[in-house]
Amino acid sequence: MNLPPRIRSEWVASPVTSSENIVSRPGRLGGRRILVMPNTFYITTPIYYANSLPHLGHLYTTIVADAIHRYKKQRSFDVYFLTGTDEHGINIQRAADREGRTPQQQVDYISGELKRMFGQFGLGPENGGYDIFMRTTEPFHYQGVQHLWRRIAANKTPKGNDAIYKGFYEGWFCAPCAAFKLEDEYATPEGSDIPNCLVHERPLDRVSEESFFFRLSDYDEFLLETIEKDPEILKPESRRKEVISFIKGGLQDLSISREKTSVSWGVPVPDDEKHVMYVWLDALSNYITALGFGQRKARCSRIR
Ligand SMILES: [Zn+2]
Repeated sequence: MNLPPRIRSEWVASPVTSSENIVSRPGRLGGRRILVMPNTFYITTPIYYANSLPHLGHLYTTIVADAIHRYKKQRSFDVYFLTGTDEHGINIQRAADREGRTPQQQVDYISGELKRMFGQFGLGPENGGYDIFMRTTEPFHYQGVQHLWRRIAANKTPKGNDAIYKGFYEGWFCAPCAAFKLEDEYATPEGSDIPNCLVHERPLDRVSEESFFFRLSDYDEFLLETIEKDPEILKPESRRKEVISFIKGGLQDLSISREKTSVSWGVPVPDDEKHVMYVWLDALSNYITALGFGQRKARCSRIR
């Protein structure tokens, strides 16, 4: 077979590259200290938002991840494969209201339908598919995310300020985006005072409420230094450049909680009954809580 050299070496070579490893373990060989790199590989799909029924996009993404996961397994990697559902936030609450369900019934229904579809296409654990179907309403996830919040709150930023503070947020909020919109993200139609979301082309809600903020603006120099020092830390190069230019454009502090009176379906903020966590903070953490972050025992024995 006449394959291009790069592809051939990738297919034929038996030693696997170490850049894909996520765990390293020190060991000894012949009296010399060496670094043993177990060939572990962690792959995830995004966790899917549980507000509406599964479609071809969910299936396609999971099939692609499943193919990579099986390929790595064949190449003797110790693989951990995660898929699952993102189950909090205003859109779930609204979808549940529309369907006459409780939010918990809504997410149970949607995650059940996803599992059923994945099962039908041979992507489930019974067919050697994903290792975990992650759900952000699981008690262990609450425990992990609350631990993360406490850890951030106990720390100072690189500029010496509290990393989390309580403030007051007023702005134009798009529910389908689940985000406050900046000036360049909305447009006000002629003859109206209410701007439209540029993504959804629907009117925004004026929202004003108490919120906890993460002091992201204090991390600009630290992030730039970290990313510019190590070209391997963020790939591909085009995305690395994009992130650098985003940071240079100025970082704003991030609203990371919502008052329960406006959104009740979320992970409670530790030690504050009035707030639940903003859905992104809770959802993005699932990739580490699934491995045991913030819990007494690692959930995946391969991750130490
Ligand atoms: Zn929107």
